[in-house]
Amino acid sequence: MNISEYKGVWVFAEQRDGELQKVALELLGNGRNIADKLGVELTAVLLGDKVDDLAKELLAYGADNVIYVEDEKLAHYTTDGYTKAICELVNERKPEAMFIGATFVGRDLGPRLAARLSTGLTADCTALDVEEETGHLMMTRPAFGGNLMATIMCTEHRPQMSTVRPGVFTKLQRDESRIDDNKIEKVSSKLTEDDLKVKILEVIKESKDLVDISEAQIIVAGGRGVGSKENFKILEDLADAMGGTVAGSRAAIDNGWIDHELQVGQTGKTVRPVVYIACGISGAIQHLAGMQDSDYIIAINKDSGASIMSVADVGLVGDLNKIVPEMTAQFKDNYVE
Ligand code: FAD
Repeated sequence: MNISEYKGVWVFAEQRDGELQKVALELLGNGRNIADKLGVELTAVLLGDKVDDLAKELLAYGADNVIYVEDEKLAHYTTDGYTKAICELVNERKPEAMFIGATFVGRDLGPRLAARLSTGLTADCTALDVEEETGHLMMTRPAFGGNLMATIMCTEHRPQMSTVRPGVFTKLQRDESRIDDNKIEKVSSKLTEDDLKVKILEVIKESKDLVDISEAQIIVAGGRGVGSKENFKILEDLADAMGGTVAGSRAAIDNGWIDHELQVGQTGKTVRPVVYIACGISGAIQHLAGMQDSDYIIAINKDSGASIMSVADVGLVGDLNKIVPEMTAQFKDNYVE
């Protein structure tokens, strides 16, 4: 493989039901930085049917251009259809790097593409940068159970591929003036019905009525120190009083106290709220990985030496069973919307 033939940074712009996934915009935010460092173009790759408006949004959020593969067979994600369509594009146009959101679609698509293209893939990256001397991508992710961060490089193969979880990067400000129809290239896919082993007959959505914690502005999170499912009620009361939402550490999820969708951390979700209140959470590195970029962190813990205190703006040392209801009462008395 002659890697010097490969140029440009691509972002897979995942859409579901005609709606862009926010991770696609976040990847454009970071991809912009990488493309500028390399002095190359940032291209968003969009697959779907009748989603022209999304192509424009991708330009507004930082893409230099968009390759839009329009086909009704690509309206919904299928492993075979998306893999074939993207592999054809990559083989033809040879991008040097490709970023994919680590959603359940991206986690299925990324490895399949990497295997077909005979290249590597670094999953769940938390940082992406460029090595100045060589121009190789430096892809950083937690390793050994999150106890150290490993920076991985793919020096012999192209494209360099990585998946990144939602919430890790920030999207750019929307800039309407970047929209230019000439920067959107519509490509027709060469897919035939025979290419698709799976056919989507109907999509049925299961509503769980849960808030997406990666979007929440105020989070009251509980850990093993909360003690029971029933006791999560005091955290819910505080969250309600503050207009926030409840989340938890893996210990709280493993104990079945709250839904696994609400797990914060390396194997849960990455959150960046304005306020994060950690109640009875020790602050294991795998938990910190998912919340340490919150704007303001309040830790409530009976152990003043708990690791969570090292990232907290305010540490309240004491029993959460006393502190949390007291905070709720204070909020109810003094907080005026
Ligand atoms: P503990 O570590 O047991 O801490 C409980 C805390 O509560 C203590 O600090 C204690 O002082 C305090 N406490 C107890 N009672 C009270 C009270 N009445 N009032 C005030 N404070 C009290 N963890 C995650 O959270 N998210 C992840 O995504 C995640 N991914 C992982 C991935 C891997 C590969 C591995 C190996 C581990 C992962 N973990 C994850 C688990 C992580 O290592 C910790 O075990 C977990 O975060 C501990 O949860 P905790 O802080 O709630 O419990």
